[in-house]
Amino acid sequence: MTKQLTLIGLGPMGQAMVGRYLDAGYRVTVWNRTASRADGLVARGAVRAETAADAVAANKLVLLSLTDYKAMYDILDGVDVAGRVIVNLSSDTPADSVKAAAWLAERGAELVVGGVMVPAQLVGEEPAYVFYSGPRAVFDEHVETLRVIGRPDYMGAEHGLAQLFYQAQLDVFLTSLAVTLHASALIEAAGVDPKVLGPYLAETFTTMPMYFEETFEHIARGEHPGDEANILMMGATAEHVVGASEQAGVDAALPAAVASLYERAIAAGRGRESWTALYDVIRQRTL
Ligand code: NDP
Repeated sequence: MTKQLTLIGLGPMGQAMVGRYLDAGYRVTVWNRTASRADGLVARGAVRAETAADAVAANKLVLLSLTDYKAMYDILDGVDVAGRVIVNLSSDTPADSVKAAAWLAERGAELVVGGVMVPAQLVGEEPAYVFYSGPRAVFDEHVETLRVIGRPDYMGAEHGLAQLFYQAQLDVFLTSLAVTLHASALIEAAGVDPKVLGPYLAETFTTMPMYFEETFEHIARGEHPGDEANILMMGATAEHVVGASEQAGVDAALPAAVASLYERAIAAGRGRESWTALYDVIRQRTL
């Protein structure tokens, strides 16, 4: 295996990846729109390409770590990418990843889509994993190189899949961060140090998997039996969170969005079903 690749995009994530590859003994050619962001990496042994075209020409394997897929077009439009394997590790929608695969295929390049599931400082560390999708044979050819930045989890040939799993995880992550801030605001607005909430929040997140079995079983069955934590009871609580927020002078948009799911299920006569029946509201099914 030739230990060499090109990496374009030197934000915090791209910088962390290049660092990992240099540590692992790779020859890494780098390019970034703002050239100065490569300086530290060049000092550590990375090879600076003067242009994006030079960077792409330098290696068959080209990793992109950019803000979104629009940046890929800005950089690669007009660059000869024929014969290249482009591993795009940038966030975007699944449909945009599929479009990018077609755009690259027209130019003779293969796309592997990736979604990095850890913050930059954990790239290449034990908890790091990356969702991938695209042609299996192309992924297999480069999997050992990709392993350097984190455990490579191949999700399927359809290009949108890695992005889909990435966005599903980000859905949970971003919402969890936002509710952490929201719950802290409720406590702090009452003059209590939100730090006190920390261990309780940790317990909530730790016990969350307890709800997965019921969730996935009910989704698979298309039925939501259960009268312990039913929609009526949970919906009343959801309204109380909205009330508590309003009383505290805290923005109530987040709990109101959750309460709205319950309201709509109750209005459709689903109040006595398990809270998992919210799934039909979320899926926008006829209730
Ligand atoms: P940044 O947005 O900080 O950096 C993005 C890079 O994209 C920079 O090198 C920037 O160049 C370049 N770029 C953006 N737009 C253009 C453009 N139009 N033309 C040319 N270059 C462009 O992102 P990160 O490094 O933090 O993240 C990269 C990707 O990884 C993102 O998609 C992000 O969602 C994902 N990710 C990031 C994590 C993190 O912890 N940072 C965690 C998990 C995933 P320039 O320097 O010139 O501005």
